[in-house]
Amino acid sequence: MEKVDCATYIIAEPQGSQYNVNFLIAGNERAVLFDTGLGEASLYHLVDSLTNVPVTVVFSHFHFDHVGNTQEFDQHAFIDLEYLHERADAGGNFEFTFQEVLASSPSEVVVNEWWGDGQAIDLGERTISLWNIPGHTPESVAIVDSDRKYFFAGDFMYNGTLYAFLPGNDLPAYEASTERIIQELGSEYTYFGAHSSPRVEFNKFETLIDLFACIEDGSCTPTAFNAFGYPVSSYSLNGLTIWTEPQ
Ligand SMILES: [Zn+2]
Repeated sequence: MEKVDCATYIIAEPQGSQYNVNFLIAGNERAVLFDTGLGEASLYHLVDSLTNVPVTVVFSHFHFDHVGNTQEFDQHAFIDLEYLHERADAGGNFEFTFQEVLASSPSEVVVNEWWGDGQAIDLGERTISLWNIPGHTPESVAIVDSDRKYFFAGDFMYNGTLYAFLPGNDLPAYEASTERIIQELGSEYTYFGAHSSPRVEFNKFETLIDLFACIEDGSCTPTAFNAFGYPVSSYSLNGLTIWTEPQ
């Protein structure tokens, strides 16, 4: 665990199999836990020791390594996307698909709140918002703290190979989301990713735009192989690598 400031904590799992990084973002009245890890290690007691206010879980996206430990927390907020809302019943019960969870994790959560894209969420003397940033997956979200200038990017961007070859990936959407981040937030923000060492340099987003252009115009030569049973084309530029579906 590392303190970013007196109310923002990096909860890394360096011993975990995916080297996940979760974040606790607290206000005076409520806190958000951004991702609950793999479920390999309990998070509840650590989170409970860090804050006295009620905690709401927000998942950066629905991959198994971000939605573990769901049984430990009972408040969940999802971004208000129509197709997600339709997957929940009237009581907010939301079932993950087989591809979204590991067999060992509970497959259902109750969604207590639906937050719109960009909607201001008051945590008490601290306001955040969720952005839908499709690309890695359609439902991917980031947390934006515009006062402290923090951006929590989930698996959209981190220090490591970016994945855009799994079901739900969308390169044009990935590019549009990257443009939004560059144009609306820029280099003044501190960026945090959900794996590996948490702080990410802003210029990685700019390199990603160059990498998309290079994929589109065919000037980058991919390496082809299979990963987890999926065909992959690996593209690299200036130290940034992305695995895509064969283009
Ligand atoms: Zn992940």
